[in-house]
Amino acid sequence: MKQNHSSQKPVILLNIDSLMPLALEIATQTGRAPALQFLMENGTYFSDMVTSFPTMSVTIDSTLLTGTYPDQHQIPGLHWFDTRTKQFINYGTGLRETFRIGWKNSIHNMLYRLNHEHMSKDVSTIYEDLAENGISSASINSFVYRGNKVQRLKTPKILSSLTHFENGEWLASVPSTFSLGAFSKLRASGMPTQIAAGNYKYTAKELRYLIRKKKLPGFTFCIFQDMDARIHFKGPTDIKLIKKIDQEIQKILNMYSSWEEALRHNVWMVIGDNGHGATGTSYRKNLIDLRKIFKKYRISRIHKKVTEKDQLALCVNQRMAYIYLLHTKTPFSKLVKQLRKDSRIDVIAWKEEQNIHVASGVKGGLLTFRPDGAYTDVYNQSWTVEGNLDILDLQLTKNQFLTYGDYPDALARIFGSLNSHEGRFIVANAKPGCEFKAQSTPFHLSGAAHGSLHRQESNVPLIIAGTNEKPEFSRLVDLKKFILPLVK
Ligand SMILES: [Zn+2]
Repeated sequence: MKQNHSSQKPVILLNIDSLMPLALEIATQTGRAPALQFLMENGTYFSDMVTSFPTMSVTIDSTLLTGTYPDQHQIPGLHWFDTRTKQFINYGTGLRETFRIGWKNSIHNMLYRLNHEHMSKDVSTIYEDLAENGISSASINSFVYRGNKVQRLKTPKILSSLTHFENGEWLASVPSTFSLGAFSKLRASGMPTQIAAGNYKYTAKELRYLIRKKKLPGFTFCIFQDMDARIHFKGPTDIKLIKKIDQEIQKILNMYSSWEEALRHNVWMVIGDNGHGATGTSYRKNLIDLRKIFKKYRISRIHKKVTEKDQLALCVNQRMAYIYLLHTKTPFSKLVKQLRKDSRIDVIAWKEEQNIHVASGVKGGLLTFRPDGAYTDVYNQSWTVEGNLDILDLQLTKNQFLTYGDYPDALARIFGSLNSHEGRFIVANAKPGCEFKAQSTPFHLSGAAHGSLHRQESNVPLIIAGTNEKPEFSRLVDLKKFILPLVK
């Protein structure tokens, strides 16, 4: 397979998880992130890229790599309920929840089922599209990785009893160059810090290896997974790790005779996956316990088999939740009424036939919408919209043009989550400062959390350097179609 056309530069996309516009601007303006500052000043900077929804990394990375929202790629979130098999699907939301649902299932779900069973076969990843054109690509440190090279991966002994794989070995479809913790290493001597992933230093070393050996393919996707855990604990303004990751990017740029030379050789893109909303300090005020709101219902337990008697299933994705109505006779209206009584819930959405309804615990009335209609939004999508536009902070201009406020690209993103999998369910969003809770859910008081539709979590930064091309719209879902022509 050819590396890339001689006239085209390799594209390197660095995804720094939980990198937020304000923190990035503070770090670069105060001299603590000179490499990122150089890329910003010698390239194009976007402070308001709209990410996918729910604002959880598996859904976002699937959107980035397939160029679709979850109605098409079908990865609904980090935690969801498969109504066909009556199983909770968890890709690893936290220690307690993962422990309840079983390590075996979580690890198997994350490493295998996400890429090979759950992600729709009707969409293609950027790796698959490039391979069709004979162009190789690389994935470093990403749990979403589907490509079309079959590679036998071996689980390290210590972990093999925790997987469903025979002898801990399994066949995976991966990009032509693939690095993921101890499962697949580029450098034989490399020692990942965690079994299933490497820290920012390890990740940067894997990328530098490709550059040093002149093995950089047409497209490389590289994830630094370190900041998220720290920001959950420290809050959204913490910038310590931006400085440390920047030092690694400096070492990468230093491999060229000058940083300008690095731009002549490659296109460099830096992105964040989701933002964070600061969370309050009070267990009682800031945590919305869905089991209390629905105390009159029989709620299935995540570690037990779902029975015929169970009426509801709850899947919390931090500040967003999926609420499943397991009995066909339970009307949406009864549950929505309960949710609306809680002023900490700002967006409540559900689907009935063609229409999507949106209500709120903060604002009155109802908003109803569906694709196609007289209104066109800023992303050139057309909609039929009726009712109280204020619920989603939508603005309508005279010529039926829709713009978004607190909930960027809200209509397409709500549509995406409500059509991401089968079943009758409600999507609920917590107001900034608050977070949902159900059985054994991890929570983040006095720190930060994400998952919701709000702009705090939805707007992420993007830097593009080494090309003057710009994406048509400031959305992650549009990046694949921006990157492909740069590489092909
Ligand atoms: Zn997180």
